[in-house]
Amino acid sequence: MQTLTIGAFARASRLSPKALRLYDELDLLRPAHVDPDTGYRHYAPAQLEQARLVAWLRRIGMPLARIREVCALEPTRAASEIRAYWSQVEAETAVRRDLAAFLVDHLSNASRKDAPMLELRYCAHSDPGRVRPANQDTAYAGARLLAVADGYGPAGAPASSAAVEALRFLDTGELPAGDVLNLLEEAVRGASEAVRGLGSDENGTTLTALLLTGSRLALVHVGDCRAYLLRDGGLFRITHDHTMVQSLIDEGRLTPEEATAHPQRALLLKALTTGTPDLGLHDARPGDRYLLCSDGLSTVVPDARARTVLTTAQTPEEAVRALVTEANAAGGPDNVSCVVADVVATPA
Ligand code: MN
Repeated sequence: MQTLTIGAFARASRLSPKALRLYDELDLLRPAHVDPDTGYRHYAPAQLEQARLVAWLRRIGMPLARIREVCALEPTRAASEIRAYWSQVEAETAVRRDLAAFLVDHLSNASRKDAPMLELRYCAHSDPGRVRPANQDTAYAGARLLAVADGYGPAGAPASSAAVEALRFLDTGELPAGDVLNLLEEAVRGASEAVRGLGSDENGTTLTALLLTGSRLALVHVGDCRAYLLRDGGLFRITHDHTMVQSLIDEGRLTPEEATAHPQRALLLKALTTGTPDLGLHDARPGDRYLLCSDGLSTVVPDARARTVLTTAQTPEEAVRALVTEANAAGGPDNVSCVVADVVATPA
C-alpha cells in the first residue's frame, strides 16, 4: 500500500504534524501504519477526507470527543449530528447574548431619568381545568409583578405558591434604582430555597415572571410556562420552553407539529430548583398587552387563537376569562393559569 509520511500528510490535510500526533493519541485519526522500528507514522491517501473533516470540525469549535462520534457516522447521520451541535451552540449563545444585552442596558440606563413612567392594568386567574383533581398552578398579578408557576410532585401546589410568594416583596415598596439584576437574582434564589424548604426533591415548580421597573420589564423564566407580547396586532412569544421537545425542535429533529403530539412533551429540562433561569429585559410601550400562561393553556390553545382572543378582548379581565374558557372547551386536560396585563402611561 502506498502511504504518505506524516509531513506529506500534514501538508495535504492542512493539519500540523503536532495535531496529527494528538489525534492519533485521542483515537480520532489513527495512522494507517506505524513503523515498528522508527515509530514513524504513515497515512493512507484515503484518510485525507477524514483528516479534512476533523480539521473543519475543529474550526467550528466542536469538542474532540464529539468529533470522534461524528467521524464514526455515515455522512447523512454525521450531517444531522453537526446540525444538532450547531443548534446547541446557537441556543447557548442566545442565552449569553440576552444576558449581555441585559447588562449593557442595565449599565447604560442606570441613571436614566427621562423615560416615560408606565403602569400596568392586570388580571390573573388560575383554574383547575376539567380533568385534574387539584390545582398545582399559581398565578399572580400586582402593580409591578406578574407571575405564573406550575408546580409538580406531591407538594406541587405549595411549591408553585411558595415560589410566587417569595417574589411578592418586589411588588411592594421602593425598588432600588439601577439594581434590578441583582434584585431579581436574589429573589429567584429566595424562591428556589423556599421550594427546597418543602422537603422532597420530587417537588418542584416552573416560574415565569415579569417585573416592571420604570419603562422596562425584567423577565425571569425557567420551565415551560410562557410569556407573550401582543404589540401592533402581532403576538410574539418572549420565552423559550425548557423542555425536551423544544430542544428537539431547536435541533431540527422534530417539527413543531410533531411536538404537539409527542408523548413526552411535558418533560422539563429545567425547573426552578434544577437549573439557572433565563433573564431578559424588554422595553415596555403604552398599548402593549402581555400574557403569561401555564402549559395548560399553550398545549391546547394554538397561538393564533390566543392572538385573536387577546386582540378582541377589551380588558385584561375579559381576556383572561376568555382564554381559560378556551382551554376548558378544548378538554381542559391540565390546570390552566393566565395573567394578562396592559401597559399604560402614568397619567401626569
Ligand atoms: Mn401544567
